[in-house]
This record gives sequence, C-alpha cells and structure tokens, in this order.
Amino acid sequence: MNQASASDYINNFKLFMAGRVYHRTLSAYATRYYLDSILADFGEDALKKALEAVSQHLDYYENLTGAPQSKIRAAVKELSSMHIQSAESYEEKLQDQVRKSLKDSPTARRARLAAAEKQPSKLAVTVMVYRRNPDVVAEVLLRANGSCEACRKKAPFARAKDGSPYLEIHHELQLAKGGDDTVANAMALCPNCHRAKHYA
Ligand SMILES: [Zn+2]
Ligand SMILES: [Zn+2]
Repeated sequence: MNQASASDYINNFKLFMAGRVYHRTLSAYATRYYLDSILADFGEDALKKALEAVSQHLDYYENLTGAPQSKIRAAVKELSSMHIQSAESYEEKLQDQVRKSLKDSPTARRARLAAAEKQPSKLAVTVMVYRRNPDVVAEVLLRANGSCEACRKKAPFARAKDGSPYLEIHHELQLAKGGDDTVANAMALCPNCHRAKHYA
C-alpha cells in the first residue's frame, strides 16, 4: 500500500464511523472487511452509521459510473437485516422499557395488557460474544476457593453437575469496554454481588 492509498483508507474509516459519504472507492472485499471490523470493535450503533456511509457512497458511485455495485449492495442488505446484540443488551433494553412502564399510569398499562399478545413473539438475533479463556476462569475459581470475592460469603449453592460451588466470573473492566480477559481483571462473585456490580 502506498502512502496515498493508506491515507485514503484512514479517511474512509473516519467517514464510515461518522456515517458520511466517502468518495474514494473501496473494493467489495475491503468494504466488507471494514464493516465486519467496525461491528466487532465498535458494536451495532457504529455499524449502522457505517452502513449509512456505504449506502450513500453506492448512490454516489453508481450515479457517477452507471456501474451497479451488486456485491456491496448485497453485503449492506445482509448486515442491515441482522439484529446484533451483545449477550446483555436485550436485557438492558427490556429494563428501560420496564422503567417507562412503571412511570406510566396503571390505567394505560392495564389497557395495554388487556390488548397484548399472550404468546411472546420471537426475535432472531446474532449474538456477539467474546471468546473467553477457560484458564482464567479456572484460576479465578481456585483463588476464590468457594467464596464470593466481594461479600466473602460461601457460594449460595453447588452446581448439580459436579457439586462445585456456584460462582460467576465478572470482569472488573468489562470486556465490551476493552477490559482484558486476565486473572487480574476477573473476580468470582455470588449471583447477588454479580447483579449488583452491573445494576447497582
Ligand atoms: Zn457476594
Ligand atoms: Zn460481570
């Protein structure tokens, strides 16, 4: 890659992140690589912006050249129709809606309940998870030695499978915020302390 094309790549990246049209064309392969990397590193909202940038670029480019960019269009369509969530984001969205519902009047809430579908609908999602290191989990569990590393109480129950104390591994700096999957950044918590770490 020469210097001019390297700076094109960096400029395009900035425009992807800002959701703004870029004019230097990228190959279908490079476009897909950008989109996948943005999703993996910055999440769903950043991907939405990047898809806006690509759509605007396609309109611009096809208008200019008359050459349909079907490969890139297909990638945009595929990524736009995915519902991408982190393992926790659905639960967080639900909690927001619960807070709203609690603030609403009982009459309005009950009217909605009376009209609501009883069978929940299903939403297919693509879940982003971090590949975790089992040695980190094992090492932290051994360090905790059966007790929660926050409240110091014994694990509330043993796993039915093997009788081992039930504790959950929590990352002090969350993996989603760039935290390391290391023994130093992880702790074994009882479910109560773990919930409190995330929601208190
Ligand atoms: Zn605890
Ligand atoms: Zn946690």
